[in-house]
Amino acid sequence: MTAGSNRSHGGRLSNLPASAVMQRVVNLWLDLGFFLLFLFFCAAATAHAQNPKETKSGADTIILHGRVYTLNPKQAWAQALAIRADRIVAVGDDAAIEKFRHPGTKVIDGAGQLVMPGFVDCHIHFMDGALSLGRLNLEGAKDVSDIQLRLRDYASQHPGTDWLLGRGWDYAMFGAAALPDKKYLDELFPDRPVYLEGYDGHTYWANSKALAIAGITRDTPDPANGIIVRDPATREATGALKEAAHELVGRFIPEPTRAEKLAALRAGLKWANENGLTRVHSAGGDFPELELYDELRRHGDMTLRFYIAYFMDPPELRSKDVEAIESARKKYHDAWIDTDAVKFMVDGVIESHTAAMLDPYSDDASLKGKLFWDPAKYNAAVAELDKRGLQLFTHAIGELGVRTALDGYQHAEEINHTRDRRPRIEHIETISSSDIPRFGKLGVIASMQPLHSYPNVDTLDVWAHNAGPGRASRAWVWKSIADAGGHYAFGSDWPVVTLNPWYGLQTAVTRQTREGTPEAGFVPSQRLTVAQAVQGYTLDAAFAGRREMTEGSLEKGKLADLIIVSQNIFEIDPHKISETKVHTTIVGGQVVYQSDAK
Ligand SMILES: [Zn+2]
Repeated sequence: MTAGSNRSHGGRLSNLPASAVMQRVVNLWLDLGFFLLFLFFCAAATAHAQNPKETKSGADTIILHGRVYTLNPKQAWAQALAIRADRIVAVGDDAAIEKFRHPGTKVIDGAGQLVMPGFVDCHIHFMDGALSLGRLNLEGAKDVSDIQLRLRDYASQHPGTDWLLGRGWDYAMFGAAALPDKKYLDELFPDRPVYLEGYDGHTYWANSKALAIAGITRDTPDPANGIIVRDPATREATGALKEAAHELVGRFIPEPTRAEKLAALRAGLKWANENGLTRVHSAGGDFPELELYDELRRHGDMTLRFYIAYFMDPPELRSKDVEAIESARKKYHDAWIDTDAVKFMVDGVIESHTAAMLDPYSDDASLKGKLFWDPAKYNAAVAELDKRGLQLFTHAIGELGVRTALDGYQHAEEINHTRDRRPRIEHIETISSSDIPRFGKLGVIASMQPLHSYPNVDTLDVWAHNAGPGRASRAWVWKSIADAGGHYAFGSDWPVVTLNPWYGLQTAVTRQTREGTPEAGFVPSQRLTVAQAVQGYTLDAAFAGRREMTEGSLEKGKLADLIIVSQNIFEIDPHKISETKVHTTIVGGQVVYQSDAK
């Protein structure tokens, strides 16, 4: 980066004239003159040699005539860049980069389009998302009859008696109860098991057949950290299963085969690259599949970089956890697969009142949510893993959850005297005002998902209704956290919401729906500039994965992970950011996606 900084003119000048003055006073000026002249030629030769030497071996790929947004503060914009092997070797204007063109160099015409670092998705459940691509997608369904329609359609394409699986319904379509009921599924499928995951992955919806297969009756007790929702009169299960109650049914669903999983992952990689993703941080679900990711890599099919966290189940850290983590770290620690992280989950979500709050929920004073971890056991586990140099992710959504995670990280730092571990809190949907400055003070990263704050009916009628106006005024406060010295980084939580980062980017900038509601914005004080939001998905996201030295911006020496896109998001109405299309995605210097559009 700082090519001139290692030059030592000053040192050499001050050494030599000292002896020259002593010995040959008369020739001082002559000597010095010659010496300076000599130095000048040396310097000139070096300066000139630098380019030919660099350009001599040429580039494998050059991109010309682009509008390159680098995120390098010393050179925010450029026209062109050169790539050799998997790295960027130069960033500059067309003339400078032309020099890297050799007979074998692939030339990409940027055609005045925006070139920027690839997106890093800091929170994803990749295997789940990849499998969901082949299942019933309920995203955007308007109401129960719309769901029934899609379900009937899907079932006719997948005849037989196998489980009907899908995901993506949201709470708001079920009226005041905000929870689904088995009767809507039983009407269509009395004999075929149906099991549908809510959009947030925290509540599931089963029909009677699925409940029967799982053996759930009115006498089945709630599992730890889970709730079987029941009819208040009959005590019968309604079909809604919250949090860990999902496993009661989940364990009866046949596991996809290895071949099915690999096929799903390949489809997932393609989908991610099409949307401009070049790295993802897996926040649970992918660690048990490491061997499959490794297989894709061995076959040269890896087109996305993975940072995969081990999922830590409560109630405490066990030696089998430590063994699994340490043996994976030994094997997977390169730029494609890295497993240096551990994910905890201390609470649930606000929509189903499972997020842990300091005070009761606004719509039901008998509920406060509860912590999934005993704080003392959480602190002990965090401290031990922090000592081992692991990066920690903690899912925390309610104020008590967020505070518990901050306390755990503070405790670890105090007893381990560790610095710059960059522990993270995932989600932070609401927060107590007094905890906002602790992110900066403790060096804790706020890993947030802009699209979760998308102010549609689900957020405004269910989330905000449950949270109440006080907590809703501190909804997704990324800007307040940054203003107080903290770092934020962005992701999707796919398959909870789409992994399309342009949607999240637009939401972070507008705090509105794509239809422009609410007019004043949802907690508009948290709006970011386009540049700030882009940084959260690129350079700061790389920082949040401890990889900002090699990723996250377009600079000489960094990995060539970048995208060329259809419009310059810095120049358009921010309400149109979500319409951006990716034309080209390059990962490690290789074109991994190319759209047909030109
Ligand atoms: Zn998640």
